[in-house]
Amino acid sequence: MELYKTNSIKVYNSLSKSKEEFKPILQGNIGLYVCGPTVYSNVHLGNVRTFMSFDMIYRYFLHLGYKVRYVRNITDAGHLTDDNAEDKISTKARLEKLEPMEIVQKYTVDFHEILQKFNFLSPNIEPTATGHIVEQIEAIKQMLVNGLAYESNGSVYFDVLKYNAEGGDYGVLSKRNMDDVISNTRQLDGQSEKKNPQDFALWKKAQPAHIMRWPSPWSVGFPGWHLECTVMSTKYLGETFDIHGGGMDLKFPHHECEIAQSKACNHTNPVNYWLHTNMLTLNGQKMSKSTGNNILPGEILSGENDKLNKAFSASVIRFFCMQAHYRSMLDFSSDALEASEKGYQKLMTAFSELKNIKVSDSSTIDVEAWKQQCYDAMNDDFNTPILIAHLFDGVKIINQLKEENETISVEDLQLLSSIMQIFIFDILGLNNDSTTSDGAEEDKLSGVVEMLIKMRKNARDNKDWALSDEIRDELLALGIQLKDGKDGTIFSVN
Ligand code: AMP
Ligand code: ZN
Repeated sequence: MELYKTNSIKVYNSLSKSKEEFKPILQGNIGLYVCGPTVYSNVHLGNVRTFMSFDMIYRYFLHLGYKVRYVRNITDAGHLTDDNAEDKISTKARLEKLEPMEIVQKYTVDFHEILQKFNFLSPNIEPTATGHIVEQIEAIKQMLVNGLAYESNGSVYFDVLKYNAEGGDYGVLSKRNMDDVISNTRQLDGQSEKKNPQDFALWKKAQPAHIMRWPSPWSVGFPGWHLECTVMSTKYLGETFDIHGGGMDLKFPHHECEIAQSKACNHTNPVNYWLHTNMLTLNGQKMSKSTGNNILPGEILSGENDKLNKAFSASVIRFFCMQAHYRSMLDFSSDALEASEKGYQKLMTAFSELKNIKVSDSSTIDVEAWKQQCYDAMNDDFNTPILIAHLFDGVKIINQLKEENETISVEDLQLLSSIMQIFIFDILGLNNDSTTSDGAEEDKLSGVVEMLIKMRKNARDNKDWALSDEIRDELLALGIQLKDGKDGTIFSVN
């Protein structure tokens, strides 16, 4: 029995600004598109948080038995910076003295390596913007034919006012009216070429400095920022598909433009459910590539950043992210990670105790009711903090069973174990890597003690008894006892 038949899920749809019952277009199947990274620098933890939220959502749908086609793109075509001078990929290529496509490759590889460390599942299709230039040109042609785009000086713009005059609803997602749109439009963005300030670029004629460029009927140039996602999502998921995701900062203009482009091309609403994740902050400010207010996943895994008291494992970081709802802001700090680490270890310890629980003829615990609470939390717009609270109820149950204050039958123990397993590992995507991190700490400790043993031996060889005794006594004060024998010195930790 597919679990999706018995689990009705509510998702918060940004389009209606309310929780709605999720009904896929085709029963048992889901089309999911998530905006991927722009690959001109290392992904920071904020980016990872957004992708992790969709990884968790993807995992839950798979667990329920849905057949999911998950498409997450790579933005590898250079788009314009705010000053309209150069795209970020070209700028980085100049800085690093590399080809733009070398930059793209370098940071795509980095992105994949980071995601692998955090135990992400791969999407089914990972299309690139540069691999879909032909489709983007075709979409622009269609919008020109439909009279909702115009050419100007080798560039092509989307005619927002005409779109709205013909029944379009630009602003429908971000809930902005035209005045808001105009005041949020970058003044330098092709202003003299546009009919109206709110129009956005579908194709831009390349200036000499712009390295990434392709021929088109209008000019040698490059596609506008928003077009790739319209083209790639509808190519692989159909003109209307189930779920489109991304960070909240992409709602306007990126996703607003996607809706308009799709309607202008295909005369249909592209997406049934828009899911947006909230931001990870650092010092109360959004983590961001461009402002430098960010922390890289690699820095947290190694502990090499002034903002950290120590290193943290990938699962602890993942647990930290999952402790907040995907639509809530989350502030990063070393202290918060340390608190998550304690919670994570408690969960892992309890999980490993399951094998030692003694079974009885009957249960004093209602495991079915607890299981239902876990599903209810996830069915309510993927509420992972509530789920985690229920998993800690599971920890309490395990501890009570261990202390023999409660009893459990064989069947219920199997159910308890399998539900803990499913939610901790399959859905939250955690790994039991506490042993690896403890192991790494132990290796470091024994390395340091061995070094001190060698120093003490040198001191003794030099008849420096004072230093030799000092090393022994200081280590003893730290709970590390040295024992001299005929084969050398060994140590034990109390
Ligand atoms: P970008 O590579 O800048 O296009 O960002 C990739 C994804 O990360 C997008 O979905 C962004 O919305 C998301 N994102 C960027 N900054 C943050 C942040 N501080 N917290 C959470 N998600 C973010
Ligand atoms: Zn996108």
